[in-house]
Amino acid sequence: MDEYEKLLERARSQIPEDAFKRSGERFKVPRVQLMIQGNRTIWQNFQEILNVLNRPGKEVLKFIAGQLATAGNFEGSTAVFNGKFTAETVEEALNRYIDSYVICPVCTRPDTTIVKEGNAYYLHCSACGARTAIRPV
Ligand SMILES: [Zn+2]
Repeated sequence: MDEYEKLLERARSQIPEDAFKRSGERFKVPRVQLMIQGNRTIWQNFQEILNVLNRPGKEVLKFIAGQLATAGNFEGSTAVFNGKFTAETVEEALNRYIDSYVICPVCTRPDTTIVKEGNAYYLHCSACGARTAIRPV
């Protein structure tokens, strides 16, 4: 193995596995893990899911809270919603977010970024190059 290959190997080992999963055939989002505490729902693996989505937490939190018609806040690496929700309900809201803001409607791959141009937002796909107009969260 020459120096260049060694460098490459080391660079690869430093990329989190999720980076590979994201560009794989299947988009693997971990199951939503919730804990009910009093009258609040704590989303325990929120940060882990954000890492897979590659989207700002503020945006995702705002969307999910809107879908659940409640208020949401960050607490450390968790998200906390007022009210009691089931993992199914939160997963449904999360899937709606993924469909609208992560998955490319042209090639159905998740290798996208959100680009803002003036007042317009686009979902830009690095897999197929498509640019799709989206509504801001
Ligand atoms: Zn695409």
